[in-house]
Amino acid sequence: MDYVTAFRSAAENTEDPRTRQLALNLAAVHQRIDAAVEASGRQDRPELIVVTKYFPAEDVQRLHQLGVREIGENKDQEAAAKAAATGSLTQLRWHFIGQLQTNKAKSVARYAHSVHSADRAKLIRALGAATDRAVEEGHRDSPLEVLIQVDLRDPLPDDGRGGADPAQIPQLAEAIAGTEHLQLAGLMAVAPLGEEPAPAFARLQELSAELSAAHPQATAISAGMSQDLEPAVQYGATRLRIGRDVLGERPQH
Ligand SMILES: *Cc1c(COP(=O)(O)O)cnc(C)c1O
Repeated sequence: MDYVTAFRSAAENTEDPRTRQLALNLAAVHQRIDAAVEASGRQDRPELIVVTKYFPAEDVQRLHQLGVREIGENKDQEAAAKAAATGSLTQLRWHFIGQLQTNKAKSVARYAHSVHSADRAKLIRALGAATDRAVEEGHRDSPLEVLIQVDLRDPLPDDGRGGADPAQIPQLAEAIAGTEHLQLAGLMAVAPLGEEPAPAFARLQELSAELSAAHPQATAISAGMSQDLEPAVQYGATRLRIGRDVLGERPQH
């Protein structure tokens, strides 16, 4: 059964209104993904990561019940609490997608399956040390997947926003690949604000081709959010990070 049909039928088979809403939203997002894949002529289908930031652990539980396994979060404190609250749910994989301070690496390495936002050597060292420790202490038994976040703004302002200068990708990739419990997975980017996303995603795809020429396993492209899923699929995204269009408008805070 395809995702759209499966989530529609899950929506019909639940008594819980919120679960029904999530199932219908998932069906709609998967329908967009199917259409975008078809329009792009791709043979593969990107993976959907559902971004649950600002929404409670109960929603993660509902998503799990619907079969969702890939969960995205952008703040350690919130993610750690939800990972603890849902710890008994098997096979959930936490994707850390936000800016990360080095002093949070230790916490993130305990629960995260992957970090999409590695953008500097110091953070990679901290993640390497934290993951060694997490393995030693029995918090994890698999390597931490790491994606290099690149800043696609051109020209590149030096304003401390997340993302590495694309020129630094080779060194950062070597640093990740050379760290025992880190596994270099690929690249991540957010489309620059106020620009057409397509040219930025096209550039990301070129950067990804260069990276995977040097590191053949590092083929992941994490790109595409609720509003720019289609161009991301067109330019080869292998992981989509969708929040709003599954969970709804984020609560104010
Ligand atoms: C919040 C967030 C998303 C999801 O964005 P939506 O517009 O809610 O789909 C994706 N990527 C990152 C890095 C985010 O912080």
